[in-house]
Amino acid sequence: MLNIQGQSTALAHIQRVVHSRRLASTWIFAGPAGVGKFHTAVEMAKTNLCDRPVHRPNSHNGELFNALLEPDFLLTLPCGQCESCKAVELRTHPDLHVVSRQLIRYHDRNGTSKGTTLSIQVIRGEMIGDDSPEHRVEPKIYKRSQRGRGKWFIIDEADLMEIPAQNALLKTLEEPPAQTFIILITTSPTELLSTIRSRSQFVQFRALSFAVMAPELMNRGAGEVQARLLARLSGGSLGRAIIFMQAVIASDPDEKDKADTKTPTTDQPAFPHWINTISSALDNMLAGREGGMDLAKVIQKSAEQYAKTMLKRDPLASKDRLVRDGVGLMLSFVAAWLDDRLRHATGAPIIAPLPSQVQSIPLAAAQECIAVCRQAEMQADMNAHIGVLLASTCTAIEQSLRTAVAA
Ligand SMILES: [Zn+2]
Repeated sequence: MLNIQGQSTALAHIQRVVHSRRLASTWIFAGPAGVGKFHTAVEMAKTNLCDRPVHRPNSHNGELFNALLEPDFLLTLPCGQCESCKAVELRTHPDLHVVSRQLIRYHDRNGTSKGTTLSIQVIRGEMIGDDSPEHRVEPKIYKRSQRGRGKWFIIDEADLMEIPAQNALLKTLEEPPAQTFIILITTSPTELLSTIRSRSQFVQFRALSFAVMAPELMNRGAGEVQARLLARLSGGSLGRAIIFMQAVIASDPDEKDKADTKTPTTDQPAFPHWINTISSALDNMLAGREGGMDLAKVIQKSAEQYAKTMLKRDPLASKDRLVRDGVGLMLSFVAAWLDDRLRHATGAPIIAPLPSQVQSIPLAAAQECIAVCRQAEMQADMNAHIGVLLASTCTAIEQSLRTAVAA
């Protein structure tokens, strides 16, 4: 639990609670996607399930493992060697249960659910059981811990729990079985019932800083400039940046040819094709050669291409989900592109410059358009109709840029 980069506040909080031996039975790990919440939850379960947990002082050779804890604070860590630790790593530990919406395929008898939400059938099947005569599922949560060190349930994407699922779970949280621990992982804690939130120990995870992300991405094979670009586009989510990186690296061979190969210096990133296409559409829009609808079309087409590429890697993924991810990525790129122009206008340093013929645009318009992009990114992630969303977003951007440039 030491090496989860950039999360010292969350980790210090958890260490203090573990140290006090007053573990709450329900926890909420909240924060952006891909910043280490799930990994931390598994490590926490591993520490508590470990047969021989290790205690060692926070200070080692004059350096602190966690700068927010006192030097002589005794950290509790999993040994990493015992049978229990190994089983957690292999995800075969009988007392560690990961509950995800994808498990619907084992619990939906009609085969109608797509698993886009976390259904009550999954919560019943994996946790609280079902005593209706037609189903009869034993409640895993009331069974005795098999290795005698308690049971852990990690509910991934807990905000996707349907209300009946949350209500059913709430009943269990009100009188939790002994030595049973539940961690709810969520990007939107407000989607959880307030009655669940009030019963839980809350741990906030943060977006990762640029300094944490860039080296992590370079370790995974990104070039320096590419790492900086990905860190920018992913909004502090390492998980998201890694997915984007895979999409860039694994783009279709014909896409790769179209990628920017005529870059003059080695310090230029190998931009995927769509970055150049969207940049040109933005340039053309500012020059009055094209409109917002042209930009919308370019984004939609690029997002569909992105989804196609990603679908080849994971044929079970939902195409709609991937198109939404692609649109989110591209809107985040548009925001970063506008941010470059804004920085140019104000003389602020530009971290990883994006291609454009235009140098700066008026401050207020750039800020307004960035806000429009951020808002649209969130809506793309939810259920908004993609075509309509892109049309209204891009025409709004066109309008505010045109007005500002004309003024
Ligand atoms: Zn161990």
